[in-house]
Amino acid sequence: MSTFTAPKGTYDLLPTTNSAVYQAIRDRLSAPLRRAGYGYVETPVFEDLKLFSRGVGESTDIVTKEMFTLAKRGDEELALRPEGTASVVRATLQASLHKLGNLPVKLWYSGNFYRYERPQAGRYRQFSQVGAEALGAEDPALDAELIILADDAFRSLGLRNYALLVNSLGDKQCRPVYRAALQEFLRTLVLDEDTRRRAEINPLRVLDDKRENVQVQLADAPRLRDYLCEDCKAYDEKVRELLTAAGIAFEDAPNLVRGLDYYTRTTFEFVHNGLGAQSAIGGGGRYDGLSEMLGGPALPSVGWGLGVDRTFLAMEAEGIALDLPATTSVYAVALGEEAKNVLFTKVTELRRAGVATDLAFGVKSIKNAMKSANRSGARFALIAGDRDLAEGVVQLKDMESGEQTPVALEALVPTLKEKQL
Ligand code: AMP
Repeated sequence: MSTFTAPKGTYDLLPTTNSAVYQAIRDRLSAPLRRAGYGYVETPVFEDLKLFSRGVGESTDIVTKEMFTLAKRGDEELALRPEGTASVVRATLQASLHKLGNLPVKLWYSGNFYRYERPQAGRYRQFSQVGAEALGAEDPALDAELIILADDAFRSLGLRNYALLVNSLGDKQCRPVYRAALQEFLRTLVLDEDTRRRAEINPLRVLDDKRENVQVQLADAPRLRDYLCEDCKAYDEKVRELLTAAGIAFEDAPNLVRGLDYYTRTTFEFVHNGLGAQSAIGGGGRYDGLSEMLGGPALPSVGWGLGVDRTFLAMEAEGIALDLPATTSVYAVALGEEAKNVLFTKVTELRRAGVATDLAFGVKSIKNAMKSANRSGARFALIAGDRDLAEGVVQLKDMESGEQTPVALEALVPTLKEKQL
């Protein structure tokens, strides 16, 4: 019988393939948020399909081509979440968090997201993000705060070879004027059927088209920058001023519109130069109209999502290895049945005292058991045979120096605790 493999575009995280590094990445990407007043939120991995078609945008690739929809059950049409923002806004409105008084509502999340994309390096059908959303405040300092926190997060992992791209998409005053001008321009170009349709529904997204023949034609496209209203211009300048004051380098990216429809004003993306085509390690922006699009009140908000998978690849590209503590500090090896009973009890005591301890299971020769002790990365091995037990001791072997000393059984837990493993 043939065995099963993980579905296309997905992969397993295993202790042998850096699952601990992924955990550390999630931890470090979220640490700056936890220090900045963001509370943890967890929403379902599936939602009403319409939340995404309305929230992310009917004309986006994410909704038209990449949604994982589930078989219809009764009246419910459900889809696996392709991103986090729509769900977090939905949850905020549902629980009326915005009415509790403390605006902005600041939330962070960590989880898996699903897009039916063509899999390639750095692009998966299930991927992992750490995200942040700050809902209910229109304040350039909030946009700047989030960008700074993302930059701090990447830096805390040792990443350096990336750039921050910043753009403003305008608001409901100035964007329609720009949209019309862009549309008029796009109608003069030679574009395929799909792209022409996109130009009619959402012309800004055509700017995001990566194809060479489209990009060439866009060289003279009207620039949103020239159409920004006074309010948007001032807002954008303030964000940039605050970033500069915080020592954050950024580049102007007039064509950065990103793949989701809900963005207004500030948009940004972190791109890493060691990743090839899938270079975005994170991105986000302001979405002042999303709450209303989902039937809620006006709730100007800003947020980002950082890609955990690509952060891992970026760290690999920069040759960064995190210094992670060994998962096992002490490894116990019993020689004989009686010794096994005694050590088993001690292992439980050690674990309860907070010392990460493992034990050789099954019937193993001392040689094999010591090999396991070595592989576990433990700092100390505990070895006990019948003779040791008769003397009321176990042998404590320092795995670095190779030195072995007898320790009285009763003194074992305090002795190892003292070493602060
Ligand atoms: P987006 O919502 O598309 O802006 O995604 C935010 C971040 O998630 C991106 O910058 C990527 O780092 C990551 N990401 C998005 N889609 C994928 C994917 N299919 N595979 C891996 N990472 C992804």
